[in-house]
Amino acid sequence: MSNPAPANQTSAYLTLPTNSPFLTPSPSSHDFRSDTVTTPSLTQLHALTSPTLSLGDDVYSESTTTTNLTTRLCTLFNKPHGLFVTSGTQSNQIALLTHLARSGGPPHSIIADSDSHILNYEAGGTATLGGCQIMPITPQNGKWVTLEEVKRKAAVGAVGEDEHYAGTKVVCLENTINGVVMPVEEMRRIREWAREVGVKVHLDGARLWNAAVAVAEERDTAERGKEYEVTGQLRGTVEALRELTACVDTVSVCLSKGIGAPVGSVLLADDEKFIAHARRFRKMLGGGLRQTGVLTAMADAAVTEVWESNNAALLQRTHRIARRLSKKWVELGGTLNKEVESSMLWLGGIDDVDGGVERWEALAKEDGCKVAYSRVVVHWQITDEAVKGLERAMERYWVERKQGTWGSAEDEAKEAKKVGYR
Ligand SMILES: *Cc1c(COP(=O)(O)O)cnc(C)c1O
Repeated sequence: MSNPAPANQTSAYLTLPTNSPFLTPSPSSHDFRSDTVTTPSLTQLHALTSPTLSLGDDVYSESTTTTNLTTRLCTLFNKPHGLFVTSGTQSNQIALLTHLARSGGPPHSIIADSDSHILNYEAGGTATLGGCQIMPITPQNGKWVTLEEVKRKAAVGAVGEDEHYAGTKVVCLENTINGVVMPVEEMRRIREWAREVGVKVHLDGARLWNAAVAVAEERDTAERGKEYEVTGQLRGTVEALRELTACVDTVSVCLSKGIGAPVGSVLLADDEKFIAHARRFRKMLGGGLRQTGVLTAMADAAVTEVWESNNAALLQRTHRIARRLSKKWVELGGTLNKEVESSMLWLGGIDDVDGGVERWEALAKEDGCKVAYSRVVVHWQITDEAVKGLERAMERYWVERKQGTWGSAEDEAKEAKKVGYR
């Protein structure tokens, strides 16, 4: 395990002050709250000085930098049509509005996981903007929804026609869902059924980069009979990415999570008319941006730096660190509220006791680390030093907790503190 490749700190184009936030280590090197907190890298900043940077207006489709990035992502994800949008939330909302508009209008409904982002963290957008009911499923396996569960919830065929129901028009899947990976095989089963009954499948792939690494890791480990030894040597990452997107009609991928671009998401689709329609909703939602080249040049550099270079080694490293941290936590006596399948940990033994969250956040801070409630997210700018700091905080947390110097084991389980880091 090694620190992220040091960025080239001298620039042919730019002279930066020695305290510039663009220099390494990143100001986000100790921030475990989310992978949205990454700081735009020096490589991204350099992309703005490229002689090929286009500063055309993207509403007029004149930003070639943006068009080129979209085309690059279409090729990478193997979906023919795409649209650069402001955020993951906007991307999902545009996708769902477009699907609903094209399916004949209300009454209509969407099936989604009860833990999904579209249901819980998009400010009620689907209800307010789409006039749409979300039908939530709480997966019985505790991880992801199955075709059988979707079928049981679906209002299609004769049921879809029944006056009691809002017909199912879309199934919205999410991968990873809170760091947990939904298997490609289950996605494929759902898509096959959806096709037969005329329902569209949208994938909220905010963290699809991580899902692809995780799918590749599982296969690679099965083939080798052990975990790959050197980051960068994982096989099948691009294949996994493409298999995941092949299972759906439309997919939204965050550029600001995983690969760490400053702003933006991309909405990809099989159908050209879908994207033409989506452009209108993008405009309606205030997402028709002008000189987007400044954003997409940076996002393009992020794709190269974090995904393409050395086969996504920087992302592979985040998954390894998450596994290492989870082992440490369990050795110390902690539990995990979800399995660690990508770069995210849900620590058990923090919000089940009075004052646990406050103490955990304070102990992490003593070692210079930022954490928020019981979730830990490892992003590519986290340094080895930060990982060691968080491990020390874990040790002290369990010493204190076992001594019972605060809180009480008899306290009733507290509901996880709800804060807005996603
Ligand atoms: C973060 C996230 C989004 C929304 O992305 P924003 O860019 O923050 O709007 C959507 N879906 C999932 C699963 C996410 O984690």
